[in-house]
Amino acid sequence: MASVKLTNVKKVYDNNVVAVHDFNLDIADKEFIVFVGPSGCGKSTTLRMIAGLEEISDGTVEIDGEVVNDLQPKDRNIAMVFQNYALYPHLTVFENMAFPLRLKRPKMSEDEIFERVTNAAEILGITEYLTRKPKALSGGQRQRVAIGRAMVRDSKVFLMDEPLSNLDAKLRNQMRAEIILLRQKIDTTYIYVTHDQTEAMTLGDRIVIMKDGFIQQVDTPQGVFDMPANLFVAGFIGAPQMNFFDADLLKEGDKYFAVTEHGKFEVTGEKGKLLSAKGIEDRKITLGVRPEHMTLAEEKSDDSIECTLEVNEMMGSELHLHLVTETGKKIIVRVPTIQLTEEERAEMTYGQKLFVTFEGKAMHFFDPETTDNILL
Ligand code: ADP
Repeated sequence: MASVKLTNVKKVYDNNVVAVHDFNLDIADKEFIVFVGPSGCGKSTTLRMIAGLEEISDGTVEIDGEVVNDLQPKDRNIAMVFQNYALYPHLTVFENMAFPLRLKRPKMSEDEIFERVTNAAEILGITEYLTRKPKALSGGQRQRVAIGRAMVRDSKVFLMDEPLSNLDAKLRNQMRAEIILLRQKIDTTYIYVTHDQTEAMTLGDRIVIMKDGFIQQVDTPQGVFDMPANLFVAGFIGAPQMNFFDADLLKEGDKYFAVTEHGKFEVTGEKGKLLSAKGIEDRKITLGVRPEHMTLAEEKSDDSIECTLEVNEMMGSELHLHLVTETGKKIIVRVPTIQLTEEERAEMTYGQKLFVTFEGKAMHFFDPETTDNILL
């Protein structure tokens, strides 16, 4: 058992910067939680307060039901992996991994140390490097050693602060998959900090999205994608970013329509039912549609938008089309390359006229004043 509970946690630094405001979160035993948000939003500070590396200004942190505010990091039964591996250059991989075990009192036997280090090395696939020094390892291998050093301690909670951000893109993707695998092998509670929304989406059971020291939303990856709590979350999760339009939401009979300066779009599917169940009346909204939920239309109609192509980013499996409407509004549309003929692809150049539309079930509705999702 290793649940983690934060209640009204606050951090004010000496320079009066409030890095974290009133943070409340229950993390279940064996859950993988990701803190994500732009630089400076308070992710690391929160993680460091859980680790005991930063004093808690107000509120409580509990691990397994025990308040740990006044416990030293070493007494909290946590393991932490940092961005800059922090390996000892003069020690072998084996000794780097054995290091925290050698500090244990009462002393741990050499047999037990050997057993634990070789086990962790096996799981991480670094057995053949155990006698090497860190400088003879690649970035990815060093990060594995750093993870191994945290693993050998049998900690209740595994804390990771941007562990992959020093790696190049290819290695980062590979290590991300390895962390997912690691999780199958070491069933403990994980708290992972990243600024990268892809890492957050792929790793987390739940994601905590933060901005300016405040939690914006806590939900599963699918939950934050399908029903972002506000405009910030909607823009942060998903790439390229969601498109936004000023619009009026109109109720006609039992149907809803989003009316923008570019056309009138019927709300369909679950979203229509939710609006109705909430008894939402005619009102102003900010309409959100993700680039992957927009499609190219054959011709101009009431529910298609006439655009001019400005930039065509060829991503291989898809195109990211940067378009501008007649009123100067910029829109991004993601189009799977396979849906286009070679002729059509050749036409996707600067100045090309295109019509785009989107499905009514893919719309998101936000309050223009509060920026909150009106369906939550
Ligand atoms: P993140 O991990 O999301 O990038 P941090 O938790 O590192 O954010 O920082 C949150 C805020 O606290 C930022 O405004 C940062 O400048 C400030 N901050 C972080 N560490 C300190 C410190 N030791 N002293 C003063 N302010 C700090």
